[in-house]
Amino acid sequence: MAHTDLNMDNQWLPFTPNRTFRQDPRVFVGAEGMHFTTHDGKKVIDGISSLWCVGAGHNRRPINEAIKNQLDTLDYATAFQASNDKAFKAAQMIADMAPGDLNKVLFCNSGSEAADTALKVALAYHRARGEGHRTVFIGREKGYHGVNFGGMSVGGLPANRKAFGAQLLPRVDHMRFIHDPVNHAYIHHEEPVWAEDPLLELENRILVLHDPSNIAAVIVEPIAGSAGWYIPPQGYVKRLREICDKHGILLIFDEVITGFGRLGVNFASDYYGVVPDMLNFAKAVTNGVIPLGGVICRDFIYDAMMNANSPQHAIEFFHGYTYSGHPVACAAAIATLDLMKEENLFARAGQQGRVLGDAMHSAFKGLPNVISIRTLGLAGAVELASIPGTPGKRAYDIFMDCFHKGVWVRPAGENIVICPPYIVEDAHIDQIVQTVADSIRRHA
Ligand code: PLP
Repeated sequence: MAHTDLNMDNQWLPFTPNRTFRQDPRVFVGAEGMHFTTHDGKKVIDGISSLWCVGAGHNRRPINEAIKNQLDTLDYATAFQASNDKAFKAAQMIADMAPGDLNKVLFCNSGSEAADTALKVALAYHRARGEGHRTVFIGREKGYHGVNFGGMSVGGLPANRKAFGAQLLPRVDHMRFIHDPVNHAYIHHEEPVWAEDPLLELENRILVLHDPSNIAAVIVEPIAGSAGWYIPPQGYVKRLREICDKHGILLIFDEVITGFGRLGVNFASDYYGVVPDMLNFAKAVTNGVIPLGGVICRDFIYDAMMNANSPQHAIEFFHGYTYSGHPVACAAAIATLDLMKEENLFARAGQQGRVLGDAMHSAFKGLPNVISIRTLGLAGAVELASIPGTPGKRAYDIFMDCFHKGVWVRPAGENIVICPPYIVEDAHIDQIVQTVADSIRRHA
């Protein structure tokens, strides 16, 4: 199919430069395993699991079959005042995988909805306990929690906030970012040891500026994914838990990227040995095939909401989506999680993560403009010095160049991010990394 055969007049593309897209379009019409097929018949390797989703690789028959069977059995059923067998089963599987007493799953359809759902749970929970004054949220600079108003407000990527400033949630603060470009530019499957405690400032702000009694929740990605795979210093995640415990603040981990195997274990919470009060997930839970997201809450949150003084017929939490717990999405999740287990794919992600990390550090270190390489789990970022006056251009040009060479990576600010499906083989890693390295040289 030539691209002149495609009518591109009507789709407004998300997070894409629409004005230039048509001159050099990226149009996928098929996918199998590690690869896409483009409209003009080229094979492109998926170096980013299609936005961190496709852990098990593309077009997996067991997931497809589960979806088809579900369509023929229960296509959809109203989500309010009812549920369905697949939603119960998916929730049970997810709760069983989650650490600690993270047992109650509120389903939604995306990471953005999960963020806003978790923030609303936090407010409602505090109110149910008579602490309705706890309304301040604390996020982190360069955090990403999707694009809805709550998630955008606690998020900290300036470009995502800039045009909407006047409408951001008012009672939000941000912790400082977790990157030390001088001492920890190169991180290879380790936790950088910082000389200072980056959370001292947070504690100070909680105590002095806001007063702990006003703070509802802290929300973070354990590893900053969308900003470009920035890894927290040693002890950071545990310290966050301690600070929140000390002040009665709920801790929300946004594991939309880190959840379901990316770090070689179920969740980043397992990796760091810290149980948050809420854990947000989406993406890999269905292998990206059908939208599904959710918030897993600890028992005490659910219990507090149930025990609030309201009549038995009254709804305890006025929140939900038409498609919460959609049977087809939940069938996809069940099949995905079964498949991941059967093929031991989380452990495989951990193993291949080492291969990816080794390859990225040896191929990129010392190349022109490379200022940082950070790898952990099956993901890594190489950061490049920006071209003065045109931030992000170098990474964008490299991304486009790699696409033309058959490799799909992700530009994130000045970073090129690589996070392939868990089924990735050594030869694929080699191809992706060498293609990026060649392109970095070409864009010196
Ligand atoms: N939270 C995190 C940590 C994410 O990485 C993303 C998406 O990349 C989101 C939330 C938003 O998810 P969605 O695009 O499904 O709304």
